[in-house]
Parts: sequence; C-alpha cells; structure tokens
Amino acid sequence: MSKKDYYDLLEVDRNASVDEIKKAYKKLALKYHPDRNPGNKEAEEKFKEVTAAYEVLSDSQKRAGYDRYGHDGTSNGGFDFSQGFSSAEDFSDIFNDFFGGGFGGGSRTKRGSASQGATGADLRYDLEISLEDAFQGIQAPIHYVTNVKCGTCSGTGSEGAVKPVQCHTCQGSGRIRAQQGFFTIERTCTTCYGEGEIIKNKCNKCGGSGRKRDEVNISVSIPKGVEEGTKVKVSGKGEAGTRNGKNGDLYVCVKIAPHKIFVRNKADLHCKVPIRMTLAVLGGEIEVQSIDGAKIGVKVPEGVQTGTKLRCRDKGMPYMNSHARGDLYVQVIVETLNIKNLTKKQIELIKAFEEEESANMKEQAEGFFGKVKKK
Ligand SMILES: [Zn+2]
Ligand SMILES: [Zn+2]
Repeated sequence: MSKKDYYDLLEVDRNASVDEIKKAYKKLALKYHPDRNPGNKEAEEKFKEVTAAYEVLSDSQKRAGYDRYGHDGTSNGGFDFSQGFSSAEDFSDIFNDFFGGGFGGGSRTKRGSASQGATGADLRYDLEISLEDAFQGIQAPIHYVTNVKCGTCSGTGSEGAVKPVQCHTCQGSGRIRAQQGFFTIERTCTTCYGEGEIIKNKCNKCGGSGRKRDEVNISVSIPKGVEEGTKVKVSGKGEAGTRNGKNGDLYVCVKIAPHKIFVRNKADLHCKVPIRMTLAVLGGEIEVQSIDGAKIGVKVPEGVQTGTKLRCRDKGMPYMNSHARGDLYVQVIVETLNIKNLTKKQIELIKAFEEEESANMKEQAEGFFGKVKKK
C-alpha cells in the first residue's frame, strides 16, 4: 500500500508553520473524528491518516526526517524518528481544547514495569452548575466515553487471560540500543513495539490492548462552597491503563453559571435592589431573598444615597470545608418618581415640597451671601 503525502493529507503547503499545521489538523480531526462519525469506516481511516501525518509534521525532528527521506525517514527502515512519541502531549491538548468534557488526556502516558501495561491518561470533564448548587453542594451525575478495562480478557489483552511472555529482543525494557556510526542510539524495540512483552493469542475483543471504549456513568460529589475553576479529583476514574496498567484520574473542572440576581466575589454575594425615593429619604426596611431562598429584612438608613451597599453578615456563600459564610451586599438603587404614575394629590404634594425647598434654599443662599458681605 503506497502511503499518501503527509502535506497533501493535511492540505498544507510544504513550508507551512507549526501553527498552520496544528490548525489544519484541528479542522480535519474535528471533521473525521470517530465519535462524530459513528460506524463510518472511511472517516475513521481518514482520521487515522491525518493523525499519523500530524504526529510527524508537528514534530520538527520527525518532519525533517520526512522531508529528507519521505515515509522511510519516519518509521520503516532508516532512522527511527518515532521514538519517544514526543507529540503525545500536544496531541491530547488539541482534544481538550476541541472536544471539551470527557475527552482526551491531560498527562502523558507513562509505562510501568515490563509485566504491567502503561498508565491510562488523566481525563478532564467540564461541569457547569448553578450558584444554588454551589451553595448547597451536589451529587452530579457524569457521563463520558473513554477506554475502560476489557472484560473479556480481564484487562490482560490475552485470550483466556494467559500471561504474556517477556520480549526476548529487548529483555522486557521495550527499547533497544543500536550502534550507528559513532553514536549509540536507543530506539523502540521492533519486536514488541515498545511494550516489553509479547502476547501469543491476542484477545479478540480488544486486540491485545486490554481495554475497550465504553461509556462511564458515575456520580461525583461537588462540595458546598465550590468556586469557579475548582478541580475535583476522582481517583482512578480516568482512562484505563493498557494491559492492567494503572488507571488515570478524572478531574472535574467546575464552572458556575451566571446568576440572574447575585454576583459572587469569593464567599461574598452582591445584588442590586431598587428602592423608592421616599423610602430612601425616610429610611425603613426592605425584604430581600437570599441565596438559600429565605427572605431577609434589610434596614435602610434614612437619607441613603443611590449606590450605597448595605451589608448583611453571614448571608453569602459558604467557605469550602468550613461552616463559615461570606456576606451579602445589597446595593440600593434609588428610583426617581415618574410623574406619569402619580396621583393628582401626590403631584400637588411634590409641588408644595418643591416650593418649600426652593424657599429654603434661597434663605440659605442669602444667609451665605450675607456672611460674605459682612467680611
Ligand atoms: Zn480483551
Ligand atoms: Zn521488545
């Protein structure tokens, strides 16, 4: 089978920058991703091809090898540029960016000892909750698709769960050292493909990886007082390791939806409440609903100015892992009376008030100028 040109596959120029390659790959990966094209073999094939192309072209060393020797310069024969999979991290970053919750891995896959497979990737799940949920804490049901342990072979990757044997070529290390000119070069073992062990009869279900893709449904406890950006760690709920390797962890990243009344600042809450002009002048009490749904009375001092914040102690959000609560700040917005909504009597009263007020002001002004003249 002749391989397609990597630049053609990614639809980029041979001089394309790393960013351009990344962008091109993102676009194509989104289009052909198997999760978006279930059962579509053609899309799956295309996805594999563009991914292989990206793995080479996004790595400067591999790309240089490819530019010079073509496909031979990257894997088969010649120099092995694929050792180490240095692009594995970039690769999962792309999926974190684009597929959001429940997809991709955060940390690099690490190999355990030869008798044990690689550790599964950590997963990130973005969870949006309401401010009320953050106040009370919740049990959040979470669903995601990832690699889980294969039940058929109990995660061993081997038919009938027969133990794999150590690779003779590399003595189980997964890597071999070869002399090339003056240098000793370490490369991935080609007998076991770096796995350090060989399975005689691979499991039919998982093809020897010891894991399969499946949906995971769990309930995650989100503590009360949780803040925007808090990461809740769920140990062992990340991707399954290969061949009974350790599971990765799941990190639930909490986002809090904007609230229609309250704005949060750490454990404090802020809200705006309109009050009548007369109440602002005379003072009194207003009723405000707090985040727990209870109605609380807030004293308004006489002569309060618009924009003043009235503090209600311990009526804010709880602090995480504590019984203490922040405060609620009620900002009063004084509403000017609208003459269209006033009765005839109210208008007369206001006119009378205005006359009295202007006479008062005149007197004060005369008093002021009188004092000035005396000097
Ligand atoms: Zn299996
Ligand atoms: Zn080997």
